[in-house]
Amino acid sequence: MTFTIHGLPVARGIAIGRAVVMAGRVDVAHYFIQPDQVADEIARLRSARDAVADELKRLQQTIAAMGPKEAPHELSAILDVHLMLLQDQELVEGVKHWVAERLYNAEWALTTQLEVLSRHFDEMEDEYLRARKSDLEQVAERVLRYMKGVATPVAPPPRRTEPSRQQDLLLDGTVDVPLVLVAHDLSPADMLQFKQSVFASFVTDVGGRNSHTAIVARSMDIPAVVGSRTASQLVRQDDWVIVDGDAGVVIVDPSPIILAEYGFKQRQAELERSRLSRLRHTPAVTLDARKIELLANIELPDDAATALAAGAVGVGLFRSEFMFMGRHGDLPDEEEQYRAYRRAVQGMQGLPVTIRTVDVGADKPLDELHRAAAHLNPALGLRAIRWSLSDPAMFLTQLRAILRAAAHGKVNMLIPMLAHVREIRQTLALVETARAELDQRGQAHGPVNLGAMIEIPAAALTLKIFLKYFDFLSIGTNDLIQYTLAIDRADESVAHLYDPCHPAVLRLVSETIAECNAQGKPVSVCGEMAGDPAMTRLLLGLGLRSFSMHPTQILAVKQEVLRADTERLRPWARQVLEAEEPDLLLEVGSAAPTTRL
Ligand code: PEP
Ligand code: MG
Repeated sequence: MTFTIHGLPVARGIAIGRAVVMAGRVDVAHYFIQPDQVADEIARLRSARDAVADELKRLQQTIAAMGPKEAPHELSAILDVHLMLLQDQELVEGVKHWVAERLYNAEWALTTQLEVLSRHFDEMEDEYLRARKSDLEQVAERVLRYMKGVATPVAPPPRRTEPSRQQDLLLDGTVDVPLVLVAHDLSPADMLQFKQSVFASFVTDVGGRNSHTAIVARSMDIPAVVGSRTASQLVRQDDWVIVDGDAGVVIVDPSPIILAEYGFKQRQAELERSRLSRLRHTPAVTLDARKIELLANIELPDDAATALAAGAVGVGLFRSEFMFMGRHGDLPDEEEQYRAYRRAVQGMQGLPVTIRTVDVGADKPLDELHRAAAHLNPALGLRAIRWSLSDPAMFLTQLRAILRAAAHGKVNMLIPMLAHVREIRQTLALVETARAELDQRGQAHGPVNLGAMIEIPAAALTLKIFLKYFDFLSIGTNDLIQYTLAIDRADESVAHLYDPCHPAVLRLVSETIAECNAQGKPVSVCGEMAGDPAMTRLLLGLGLRSFSMHPTQILAVKQEVLRADTERLRPWARQVLEAEEPDLLLEVGSAAPTTRL
């Protein structure tokens, strides 16, 4: 029966496909194997299962040799249960099914079947049996850990966009059915894995519109809905789902009429995209001849190609922290970082690249350990530059790598989350130390412009200090909104209060732009506001001339730029700033002066 789940829209577009539900683990590889690899893949699973069974038996022997004080009887009983679960027919046959019929890789098949069985356990009346779910999860975890450490996958993951013959075999001969990942939560690091994976869309129970998970979804340009609260419980494995990333709605088990309606919407969106693509080579100049800089936000060095293809005139924000995440404490060394930054610089073919120093913490934990160790309020904790300054050796490693990459092209260095002049001085001193260390080694490095992010109200209110020390500023509206309004950007329960148009936010943005313009210092906006076409005219009216956004947004924003007259927008922008409810003046059809093409 058709039903609808409401969440928050985060990444535009519509996906129609089959659900892959993962309420538990998502950090395993997901890819399709070739039909002739099925036997090997099942053998890989079997040998992992046998190895884990041997391990459990050895553990039992050790326990048997101990006295009842050191190893209580229950421990041995638990291991009995685990051994039994390892051989469970439903587990074994189910996993084989996902490998043989759907061509899922072994880890994916195991977690999928685990999900199916977990639901069975949840529905059990008997409390004792219901509690066996956690035993099953522990057993599966052991097998996954074994496979991670020992066995190598039979095939590298193909990119999501590659048409794959395997997909033709899916779903009883239905060709190329997109898969929609439905999960309780996804970390930004999980999302990066999906850049390489098979999912065409995703839905999560938790998360806000400007959480980093949502931001990566937008950068991947895949329809997504977050903050759905219950999707991972209500949607079942393999259900047909429609994800409407514009409306923030998930329709489960849609009727043929609804399917047809959404199929039509999908085609309309495609047409709109191809219409916009004609603007790719058009310079971003307003009607009153103001040249506007449209830059790209990227997460990985190879995203430079996407940025160039979208017509970006540089990278305004390279979120370097993605290279640091999901590595279980094994952070990238100077050489690895240098090569990555150099790849981005060379990839931009002479256009400038703004590398932001690492911004982990808050909703971007380095890994699970880091997440667990986070303090009660990680958004206000050891995050971004605070984290970097807490470990100068680690920070110097990054600074040297960036300076070395600057020998290969135009590089700007951007520092996140500064608030205190002390932090500014410490940071600048470390940049000088890094340079001196490279000189001492005789290693080549290049000049960099130094910029600060304005993302804490305290920074926006002390601009003169920032302008004294830095060559340019970049307004991080995602955090500026979070910290001005005291709204956790990743918390769906307060998402309705996360308001980019709050008069206080607009005032801080406006004053930052005005002060920079008055002093002739470059300023850009690199938060999500810059990529939202509904905000373009306002930002132009406030005097902004440089926008940094996901490459996927560049053409839509450029369209707004081409239609704008900044002189006429100026007085209107002032009115917006003065309004009690500025968003009412921004709505489509409002009195904003534009000339339509
Ligand atoms: C911001 O805060 O606006 C920003 C661009 O940085 P991030 O989203 O990575 O916190
Ligand atoms: Mg930020």
